[in-house]
Amino acid sequence: MKSNCINCQKEIDKQDKYFPFCSDKCSKVDLFRWLDNRYVISKDIDFDN
Ligand SMILES: [Zn+2]
Repeated sequence: MKSNCINCQKEIDKQDKYFPFCSDKCSKVDLFRWLDNRYVISKDIDFDN
């Protein structure tokens, strides 16, 4: 199952270590954005838990 990094839109796999990001770097960028702007994760993203 393919998905896209919610930060940079790069194609990723749901099994990926950093899902829903492509990398550790993107996960941190997104965290900082969230802290700054109260960024709300899209409901379109399907989390397993
Ligand atoms: Zn990314």
